[in-house]
Amino acid sequence: MQVFTSVLVLTIVFLVFVITDIRSYKQRKVESMESLAQVVGTNCISTLEFNDDDAAKQILEELHTVSPEIIQAEITDKDGKLFATYIKPGAANFPVPADANENKFTFTGNRLFVTSPIISNNSTIGKVLLQVELSELQQIKQFKYELAALLFLFALLFSFLIAFFIQGYISKRLLRLVNTIKRVSKTGTYEPIADDGKDEISTLIAAFNKLMQQVQESQKRKDEFIGIASHELKTPLTSIKGYMDLLKLKEDRQPNKQFLEKALQNIKKLESLISDLLDVSKIQTGQLELTICEFDMDVLLDETIAAVQMVSTTHQIIRENKAKNEIVIADRQRIEQVLVNLLSNAIKYSPGEKEVFVESKKSGDELIIKVSDSGIGVPKEEQTDIFERFYRTKGISTHISGFGLGLYICKDIIKRHQGKIWVESQAKGSAFYFSLPLKKSE
Ligand code: ADP
Repeated sequence: MQVFTSVLVLTIVFLVFVITDIRSYKQRKVESMESLAQVVGTNCISTLEFNDDDAAKQILEELHTVSPEIIQAEITDKDGKLFATYIKPGAANFPVPADANENKFTFTGNRLFVTSPIISNNSTIGKVLLQVELSELQQIKQFKYELAALLFLFALLFSFLIAFFIQGYISKRLLRLVNTIKRVSKTGTYEPIADDGKDEISTLIAAFNKLMQQVQESQKRKDEFIGIASHELKTPLTSIKGYMDLLKLKEDRQPNKQFLEKALQNIKKLESLISDLLDVSKIQTGQLELTICEFDMDVLLDETIAAVQMVSTTHQIIRENKAKNEIVIADRQRIEQVLVNLLSNAIKYSPGEKEVFVESKKSGDELIIKVSDSGIGVPKEEQTDIFERFYRTKGISTHISGFGLGLYICKDIIKRHQGKIWVESQAKGSAFYFSLPLKKSE
């Protein structure tokens, strides 16, 4: 845009420059030829009065030495009859335009025609007509156009270079801003952008820094609130659960026992939510600690599958291909938490289906666990987002309960074990994978 504007302005400036220069040259030429025609006219007064056309012709021929550009000169008497004429030797005959005799001067092509009346005793006794070849004008035009083109090119190059550097400076800062925005939306982490400029972009960057600072502060307050609230909720809930368990043991009558069981089921749900919130708060403050030990993943898989199977009345969890000697060094309880979450999700997000599959296989020095279902699947564009805090897929039905915390916690746990977690999902069903480093054999 900048270069385009510069080109437009430069073109106008150079056109004005060339046109005014040529105009002023023509003006000067007209003035000098008019004076010359007046001088010739004055000198020819007596020749006209005495009808001495030879003398008039001689005067005209002298023009050759005074101004070689004059290629034709004529003197006419008061009736317009040709009295004397001069044609520069070798000059091509050029017809005098009809209006040349009426105007004081006329330009035709590269010719200039100038007329001047011959006045004696206040009456016009004839007229002088000079025809001038403006060969110099052609050279001047060419020179000016060449000069203008050269200057234009230099100016263009210069403006392009300036635009290029300014553009680079501006784009670099804008790109930095855009990349930071992308990073913030992807990872949630934010570092203030340093910028010492004084233009609109600096104002924009400063406004963005301030906005992000406010967002971070409110995020921090929200995290603190979640941490404190879940902590404060946990103690009374544990106590309620204890009393309910006790009541359930003592109560044999129906439907009281059944009501207690229902209440306990909901307390369990609340407990799991509070535990997730506490975990998120621990992740945020970097306090999620691991208790590392060596264990057989095969055993853990069987145990966890059995535990989840106990509470699932709709699905059958089927264990496929087992890897041999699945010894890993990890936090057993946290890995179990990951497995429970993936299995519960596989059941929860495959309503109407009957099976969930679990597989384990070795790949290099890693063990890969796969939990798959034939459920609603995860759209391609959301397969990374579902591992973010509070993220639930857009088209998800509202009657499938959840808070979007489980996978976020799983991702953090697996990351802390130097493993990876990901999802593969096509039209139907999804397969969640996570990898853990295997114990190196001695
Ligand atoms: P929650 O299940 O409580 O919503 P999660 O963090 O466990 O939270 O899962 C986040 C989102 O990922 C879910 O809301 C759901 O949209 C999607 N998701 C997780 N597991 C599956 C699955 N097996 N099939 C389809 N979608 C899933």
